[in-house]
This record gives sequence, C-alpha cells and structure tokens, in this order.
Amino acid sequence: MGARPLLNRRLAGMGTTIFAEMSALATATGSINLGQGFPDTDGPREIAEAAARAVLEGRGNQYPPGPGIPELRTAVAEHQQRFYGLSYHPDTEVLVTAGATEAIAAALLALLEPGDEVIAFEPFYDSYAACIAMAGATRVPLTLRQPAFRPDLDELRSLITPRTRLLLINTPHNPTGTVLHPDELAAIAALAVEHDLLVITDEVYEHLVFTGGHHPIAALPGMRERTVAISSAGKTFSFTGWKVGWVTAAPELVAAVRTAKQYLTYVSAGPFQYAVAEALRLPASYFEQFRADLRRKRDLLATGLADAGFGVHEPEGTYFITTDITPLGEKDGIEFCRALPERCGVVAIPNQVFYDNTEAGRSLVRFTFCKKDEVLLTAVERLRRL
Ligand SMILES: *Cc1c(COP(=O)(O)O)cnc(C)c1O
Repeated sequence: MGARPLLNRRLAGMGTTIFAEMSALATATGSINLGQGFPDTDGPREIAEAAARAVLEGRGNQYPPGPGIPELRTAVAEHQQRFYGLSYHPDTEVLVTAGATEAIAAALLALLEPGDEVIAFEPFYDSYAACIAMAGATRVPLTLRQPAFRPDLDELRSLITPRTRLLLINTPHNPTGTVLHPDELAAIAALAVEHDLLVITDEVYEHLVFTGGHHPIAALPGMRERTVAISSAGKTFSFTGWKVGWVTAAPELVAAVRTAKQYLTYVSAGPFQYAVAEALRLPASYFEQFRADLRRKRDLLATGLADAGFGVHEPEGTYFITTDITPLGEKDGIEFCRALPERCGVVAIPNQVFYDNTEAGRSLVRFTFCKKDEVLLTAVERLRRL
C-alpha cells in the first residue's frame, strides 16, 4: 500500500480504546479489574428467564420491526410516564436501538452537518468523540473541573457560536459522577432555547442517582421538541451484553434518528427486547434495591480509596469514582494505571484519555464499584499497600 494512511483522517488517533489495553493488562497480571464498568453479577433471574423463554418460544428470533417491538416501545413510554411524568407515544416517539451506543451514533449522524459544532462535557464518554468525528462535526469541550466537576454555565454560554448545532449532555455523568441539578438543567435549557440548539442527553445511569434524583432535561419548558433522550437496559438491569437501548423524542427527531439507525444495525437483540419490556415494568422495589446496593458499594470503595491515600471525589451518581493521585505523590494517571497492576494487582482507567484538554485530567483515575463486595474489599486491601 502507498503512503496514504488506511484509517481515515476523521478517525486518526482513535486506534484502540484504553479499555482494551487495561483489560488485557488485568488478564495478563491476574489483577482485579476496576477499569471497565460492567457488573460481575447478572441482573434479575426472572428477566434472564424471560429472554430464554422468548428464544425458545420463537419470539424475536427473526428480524424484529425496525423501530423495535411494540411491547418494548410501550414499556419505554410507560417508564418515562411512571418515573418522570413524561408522555411519549410508543409508535412515533420511541425508537429501540442497539444499546445507547447506537442511539448516540445514529443521533449524531442524523442531526449533524459537516462543520457543525457540538458542545459536550469533558471528560467525554469515549464514543462521543468518535461519533462526532464520523459525522464530520467538531467537538467543543466544556471542561468539568476539579474539585467539584460541575459545568461552568458562563463558560458554556461563551462557547456557543453561530456554528453550534447541538449540546451533548450526560447526566449522571461518566466518569465524574456529576448529576446535573435542576438549576443547572434550567440554565442549559434556557441557552438551548435562546440559541435554538438541539440537545442529546445520555441518561444511561438514570437509576443510579444517590443524592437528589434524576431530572430529565426534556421535561423543561421548550425542551421537548429539541431533545433526544437516550437510555439503555445495560446499566439499569445489569445486562450490559444485551445491548438494548432506546431514544425518546418528538416524532420529527425520532424519524431523523431512525433514518440513520436503519442503516447502522437495522435491528438487533430481538428476544432481549421482550425481556427488557418486562424489566422496565419491575416494581419500584427493584429500582430502590439496585440503587441502595450500589450506594453501599460506592461508600465501601470511597472509604477504601481515601484510606489508601487517594483524593476521592464522591460521585452523586453512576457506578464510578474519580480519584486524584496527587496526594499519593503521583502526577500522571496513564503512567500510574500502567504500573498499578504490577504494583498491587488492581486495574483502573486514567481519566486523561477522556479529555481533549489532557492537562485537566492528568492526575485523575477512575475506579468502578459495580463489583461484588468481596472483590471491592480485596481491591481496597491491595490498594492500601501503595
Ligand atoms: C455504558 C455507557 C453507554 C453505552 O451504553 P450501551 O447501552 O452499553 O450501549 C453510553 N453512555 C454512557 C455514559 C455509558 O457509561
């Protein structure tokens, strides 16, 4: 082949994700992997059985309908009504996707023109930068800074230009655990209305808010017609391998996102869609217990990390804790995370890789706490040796 690089310019530098590198290190060293955020315990048995039944009874084994099976679209609409008082029509305002990941990709590919600017919170969830790039658009980071990791709304205003098309928000926010408060959401919504911007909101951790509660921005005045809300079953029901996600939005927005989505996967996860429809209808006790379990795990890991000498930022939501390694006499999270498995048999993720502005994330390291208590306790014991 000639001198021209194979990987196109839009994706240059996006080689392999840090998760692949760190998970390989975890395996090679036999370390405890608190890097990638997937639970080590599967979700409810009855929901797994619902998926098995669907396969055996021949439901969803062939291509399901493009927008998702009606049972799941109805369950998503009911869920939005039950938890947030939002009403969406299952036929025109709900779209089932291959996880939140496909929903994010399809929404960005559908709604952006090359040259458009997208303002997104930095650190970014890793697929945002790649999808914005694939759409030919430009990402403009609004950095969530230490120690509080809250958005500076004056800075947000100053980042809006005539090219800004879209705000991409994520609440609860991975990796900082920041949950947008009602006054922050109101200010963001007011800016979106004032500048006629679209908003994509990634709410996959909606059921993991430990303080205050989750507030969808779509509920605010002027926002319903400009908001694409995205969520998924993976995090809420501890079935991250099923990849069942969804979009709720006004009909024109759903139609646009569906146009891109139909040429990405077309459809996916047929039998799992039946199971997720049941999961979304689980009683309140399921959601309460799930949150209480994760809160306890958060406290366990936060205490352990603080005892080990990390600077701990207590998350309001998600299943991640962002720490600062400066108190340990360390400066660079990437070096620290590459050495950590050898030093004490634990794997974590350097937040730096989620920043454009790498200096702002240099000393930050993320740990997940969606693991069994004994795994967290062993990890904490090992980290104390640092
Ligand atoms: C895990 C995660 C996703 C991806 O969700 P899937 O349903 O697995 O595709 C999207 N956004 C954030 C912030 C996440 O943490």
